Amino acid sequence: MVALLVIFVKSFRCASYFCGSAGGLLPRKRSVLLSMALVVASFIVVSARKIYEYAAAPDKDKESNFVFPYNSEQKKPTILIAEPKAPPITFKQTGGFTNDASHLNQTAIYGVINIKGEDDIRNALRYARENKLKITCAGQQHSMGGQTFTHGGLLLDLREFNRITLDKEHRIVKYSVGRTLVAITTIARRTGLVGQVHAVNQHLQCRRLSQRKRAWYRSNARADRSDGSFDA
Ligand SMILES: Cc1cc2nc3c(=O)[nH]c(=O)nc-3n(C[C@H](O)[C@H](O)[C@H](O)COP(=O)(O)OP(=O)(O)OC[C@H]3O[C@@H](n4cnc5c(N)ncnc54)[C@H](O)[C@@H]3O)c2cc1C
Repeated sequence: MVALLVIFVKSFRCASYFCGSAGGLLPRKRSVLLSMALVVASFIVVSARKIYEYAAAPDKDKESNFVFPYNSEQKKPTILIAEPKAPPITFKQTGGFTNDASHLNQTAIYGVINIKGEDDIRNALRYARENKLKITCAGQQHSMGGQTFTHGGLLLDLREFNRITLDKEHRIVKYSVGRTLVAITTIARRTGLVGQVHAVNQHLQCRRLSQRKRAWYRSNARADRSDGSFDA
């Protein structure tokens, strides 16, 4: 609001200057209209940018610090009641807030645990049980109804639980739950299991590869790690 006011005042001065220099004594009304047009244009640009940022793919953190509809309970900070004992669990965040792709659900949580494998899940569940904490799972947190967290709860961030392996003979890709569909289709394409995959209007479209290209992909398919798993 303050920013808009500043823009209005500045653009009013600017408009007055230009109107004055162009026409000498152009009516004041015109400079008011011009400055209003500038404010509306700035508002549209700022809003369009925000919409673009909020609707972007969940491949990086987004700023989201409000609750809609307002609920004071949701923002009440939570207090840590226990220090993690051995076996260790990796807290990516203790206390603080989380949100989802809607950016309307900022909620205070107990903390976020980084999950990289089955042991981390086991330890996190044990920790939650011992401390009577509610637990939730989150992938990319691209849902929009607050399903990935609960107030005061422990959030398991599964994005790094992302092992992916390929059984070339049986044409099966096995992956852990943190993998995104894009990564899976990239592996499948790299190894010649499917053709080129494109996202078209939020649907995945698969284009066939020529016999020659498919054969090349299959014969050149190499896993990124010695245990047969991929990095992509
Ligand atoms: C701009 C935009 C466009 C969208 N377009 C589409 C679309 O075209 N089609 C569509 O289907 N959806 C669409 N959605 C919805 C959203 O993308 C899906 O809900 C999202 O793909 C879910 O995946 P995620 O990894 O982000 O799940 P999260 O949001 O992280 O989790 C969703 C739910 O699954 C649970 N969960 C997550 N991981 C696990 C796990 N390993 N085990 C058990 N439970 C788990 C969570 O607790 C939560 O309840 C869209 C959303 C946005 C913001």
